[in-house]
Amino acid sequence: MEERREKPLGENFDFPPSVLDEIQKNIEEIILNFDIPDANKFEVIKKINFMYSQTKYMTVTDALTGLYNRRHFEECLEREFLRSKRYKNNLSFAILDIDFFKEINDTYGHSAGDYVLKELAYILLQTFRKTDIIFRYGGDEFAVIITETPIEKAIVPLQRFRRTIEALEINYCKQKIKFTVSIGVSEITETTNSIHELFENADKALYKAKENGRNQIIHF
Ligand code: GH3
Ligand code: MG
Repeated sequence: MEERREKPLGENFDFPPSVLDEIQKNIEEIILNFDIPDANKFEVIKKINFMYSQTKYMTVTDALTGLYNRRHFEECLEREFLRSKRYKNNLSFAILDIDFFKEINDTYGHSAGDYVLKELAYILLQTFRKTDIIFRYGGDEFAVIITETPIEKAIVPLQRFRRTIEALEINYCKQKIKFTVSIGVSEITETTNSIHELFENADKALYKAKENGRNQIIHF
């Protein structure tokens, strides 16, 4: 497991997307007031909107895997946490970490490691529902917000994922790569007070899964 707590959750300052959207709207209004032909105004607005949506996509996406990135993670977890609390919906949360990923890099090279991360991301997308939200949290660590699902049901796709990875043989430049993942999972209960608690519970479970010999799921 990589040391990844440069900053605790909540200390990263980012513009809330709603503020950016407001700025975007204001820019449109300014352009509409320009003393130029309407067709030109709309052309400029179209270009700015395109650039804006590209930038927005890039700020929430991990370039290597195409999954949501860590920046987007906290915002999503907060929103889903509030939704679950408000409507009393179940919500499970999983953190996944590749076992001995450093050895994969050391044995097969960094680009093979990158390939493994991409394959794993693809399998995650195949395994979970469209309503679940998948992130690359850090180097070899991934997180899944499993919505509307209590922990005993969340274990089912997580086990399927763990087994798929266990059975997988990746062919990369004529090399066969096998690996496993460890998973920690938690859920929102009546006593869960914050996303930090939900996160820490899954993280503690992941730690136990590593300690217990890896390639397994532990629930908090
Ligand atoms: P553990 O089972 O305890 O998790 O062991 P591990 O080797 O997976 O854990 P460790 O934290 O020591 O190694 C994670 C490695 O992930 C170290 C780092 O070089 C590698 N890594 C992080 N980001 C990337 C990336 O984008 N591409 C590649 N190829 N490697 C990465
Ligand atoms: Mg690891």
